[in-house]
Amino acid sequence: MEEELLRLKSEALAKLASISQVGELEDFRVKYLGRKGLFTGLMRSLGTVSTEDRPRVGKLANDVKQEVESEFLIRQGSKEGSGQALQQKVVTDLSLPGRALPLGRLHPVTQIMEEVCAIFEGLGFEVAEGPDVEVDFYNFEALNIPKHHPARDMHDTFYVSDSVLLRTHTSPMQVRAMEKRQPPLRMIAPGKVYRCDSDITHTPMFHQVEGFLVDRKVSFADLKGILSIFIARIFDEHTSIRFRPSYFPFTEPSAEVDIACVMCGGKGCRVCKQTGWLEILGAGLIDPEVFKKIGYDPEEYSGFAFGLGIERIAMLKYGINDIRLYYENDLRFLSQF
Ligand SMILES: [Zn+2]
Repeated sequence: MEEELLRLKSEALAKLASISQVGELEDFRVKYLGRKGLFTGLMRSLGTVSTEDRPRVGKLANDVKQEVESEFLIRQGSKEGSGQALQQKVVTDLSLPGRALPLGRLHPVTQIMEEVCAIFEGLGFEVAEGPDVEVDFYNFEALNIPKHHPARDMHDTFYVSDSVLLRTHTSPMQVRAMEKRQPPLRMIAPGKVYRCDSDITHTPMFHQVEGFLVDRKVSFADLKGILSIFIARIFDEHTSIRFRPSYFPFTEPSAEVDIACVMCGGKGCRVCKQTGWLEILGAGLIDPEVFKKIGYDPEEYSGFAFGLGIERIAMLKYGINDIRLYYENDLRFLSQF
């Protein structure tokens, strides 16, 4: 009897472990644990056991049956009822807060771009946008840079064809606007520009803001006034600036504008190469030749223009020394701004 119980137990447990289909579980229950099942049959035959052995064998029979039953319930829970049982346990708690989604933010270059535009809009400048793919005429010819002019070498141009190119500066917008309208004009043209150049301070695509103002009796003093206000707002109101004579084909006279080094305050450091100054933008009075090409009378009108690189300002403002960081799309870097 005892041997029979133990044999049945190991048989039942082995069978239970091999069950893979839900339907087989019910067959198992009927065969072993049902009212006409094998365990019940064995229990019934307890009467044939001698009186002195009966309590011990009876207890063993109960233990074995319980063990098989509980194993059966565990199997049942993990097979048949798995989906249902789990669903019953997951209760929707409407009072829980929602899952937080990661919040996007503006790219630091976009932030500076918007800041620059806002400053000039506050000074009465309109914002104009033009095409990235430009014709030679607007990018060079109309800006007093004819073919074979050495100044073309300053622009490492991506050509699409002989007369179509990716704009190397946002200055073409100056010509496009002046063609359509009569002075007075004050405009800025922000946007992407392209040059075949890539190193620690250059990327093949970068952002520029071109600004210009045309009216009667515009002088260099007006240019200096506008740029001083701009520098004071974008950096710090105590930032000193200086103008250095320079050359651009479409302005005369031309100047490069420096600011006192934002890192060392003008004392001299690695960033400013010990000069205390940082070049920040190029500017000048619009060359009368440009006016002539468009049809403005240079005797009547004068104006100034300037161009600045957004990445350059972003690098100085945030103390970044490698421009490529802005375009590697590393969120750990970008999320700091
Ligand atoms: Zn410095």
